[in-house]
Amino acid sequence: MSNRRDTVLGLLGVERWQLRDAGPAEQASPQPVLPPTTIERPAGARPVVSQPLVSAEVAAPMSTEFEVSSDWQGLRAQVADCTRCKLCKTRTQTVFGVGGHSASLMVVGEGPGADEDATGEPFVGRAGKLLDEMLKSIGRSRQETATASANGVYIANVVKCRPPGNRDPEKEEVAACRHYLDGQIALLKPKLIVALGRIAAQRLLSSDEPLSRLRGPLHQYGPSQTPVFVTYHPAYLLRAPREKAKSWEDLKKIAQHLKVHG
Ligand code: URA
Ligand code: SF4
Repeated sequence: MSNRRDTVLGLLGVERWQLRDAGPAEQASPQPVLPPTTIERPAGARPVVSQPLVSAEVAAPMSTEFEVSSDWQGLRAQVADCTRCKLCKTRTQTVFGVGGHSASLMVVGEGPGADEDATGEPFVGRAGKLLDEMLKSIGRSRQETATASANGVYIANVVKCRPPGNRDPEKEEVAACRHYLDGQIALLKPKLIVALGRIAAQRLLSSDEPLSRLRGPLHQYGPSQTPVFVTYHPAYLLRAPREKAKSWEDLKKIAQHLKVHG
């Protein structure tokens, strides 16, 4: 077992006994940190191709439709003033997104929680700390130093305002907010989108499938067919630490995909 793997598993809080319990295959042939495989669609798994409302390719003005700005500053300003759904009434502030504008990796969560609503930045609470550790394990950081580099990460949510009491964002709210997420995707042109948890995955992919089915196959998003990979939400990993070993497997696949594709 490599030192790096131990370090990363340590960061994720995975105890070594969990690995020893992981089964004979794990014991018999420890995998290299980044196995030479890309994310594959298991036989029989149906890809989910979801159409965004706005994309780089479909930027034609829609007369009666709402148009999002095609530059970062303008888009951020539009979100800051947005009243397109009822979440505007209960938010403290909007939570636009954070990270490098040249990042090849985009991470999409569900929606701001109390900490994010208070600070205006996504994933700053406990789950955010774990997310940062997970990203660090694959060499990615939201920090400014990564801003100019493809090795950065851009982090956003399917809704930019906090659902009251941390309830799930409703489909209508996500639909209203989708323009902004699509605007962010069109500007960033990520090589891979990672959806965190069931709600982010279902809303992004317009699917009602459970996480167990969405996690695994590589999906595609929009006319640009951006690959989408679904993994566990860090808040869930905090509640169910036994799933951290599977999360690490996902992180390896994500890193490998980015190594091959961007
Ligand atoms: N959970 C999310 O899905 N997004 C955040 O920004 C914070 C917690
Ligand atoms: Fe606007 Fe999105 Fe906030 Fe709703 S959640 S008010 S659509 S920014």
